[in-house]
Amino acid sequence: MESELFIEGEPAVFMGRGDREWRERVHQASRGFNLGSECGLRLRFTVSSWRRGGSCFDLDNLTLPVREALGWSDIPFVDTAVEKGRRAGVLVASAREHAQVTPQIWMAEPIIGSVSHTEVHPALAEQLRFGGDGPLRVHLVIHDAGLSVCDFGFEGCVKPTLDRLWPIIGGRPGHPHDHRIHHLIVSRSAARPSGVSIGIEAMTVPHILPPLPPVPAVSFEADEPGVEIVTTREQLQSLVQEGRGHLYNDFGGQIPRYCPIHEVGCLGVRQMLKVAPGRLSVRKVWAERRAPLLSWLQRKRKIFADCACPR
Ligand SMILES: [Zn+2]
Repeated sequence: MESELFIEGEPAVFMGRGDREWRERVHQASRGFNLGSECGLRLRFTVSSWRRGGSCFDLDNLTLPVREALGWSDIPFVDTAVEKGRRAGVLVASAREHAQVTPQIWMAEPIIGSVSHTEVHPALAEQLRFGGDGPLRVHLVIHDAGLSVCDFGFEGCVKPTLDRLWPIIGGRPGHPHDHRIHHLIVSRSAARPSGVSIGIEAMTVPHILPPLPPVPAVSFEADEPGVEIVTTREQLQSLVQEGRGHLYNDFGGQIPRYCPIHEVGCLGVRQMLKVAPGRLSVRKVWAERRAPLLSWLQRKRKIFADCACPR
């Protein structure tokens, strides 16, 4: 079951002002909140400014205190992002899926701990540079079973790997422009025998949504006339049999095409029935007419796209 929790307050940066108080707040607020088995951690920070004491700060340093205050360590992935907004805080969510960036780089030897260096890492030699100062999404895929996806400290591999990216993201040795990383995914895969794969892309569309207020883990009521939340395969099947209306896949994340609005007659909707009876892993939202569904999506600040199913 996926669930989420919004913790209000200006998120502190690792070893920065208010770090201890912020960790305590996160710790207290998250009592009783569990990720659930096989779920990863999704963090969505909202900050009121891109600078602290005049300096830029890095997403990994925003993530570290929260990750440590939450305490979980044996998790499949961390998907963390930051955006600027009026209501500062962090949305903590359990998630079954994370954002993905196709890896372009493979470092066969993981970089662990702070390693002072001046040369360009050989794995980065042929890579294109992301010029300018625009926001970037970085995905680290860890292949070594012994390395943690959630060690954002100096001893892990996350921070030292990001430190080496200056030839691509800008900066110089020891001073990478990693403040540009607004979305960071650290996950695990056995696709390579060792080391870390890295995918980087520009976040051309600022489609990270501001955190929503806390919602119950399971909601049956859509609070919009004409809109219904579909949480079980049985509900979905009866809608398919009636064959009317529009169905939104409430997948979450930031990629609109993963959150399509289908027509109930779509191939994509029939394929959703290829699951076990009972609760669906991703809830759907149904409306007979498109207008109330769009109004619900906009009010809930959901991303969406029209489906591209073959008809
Ligand atoms: Zn469709």
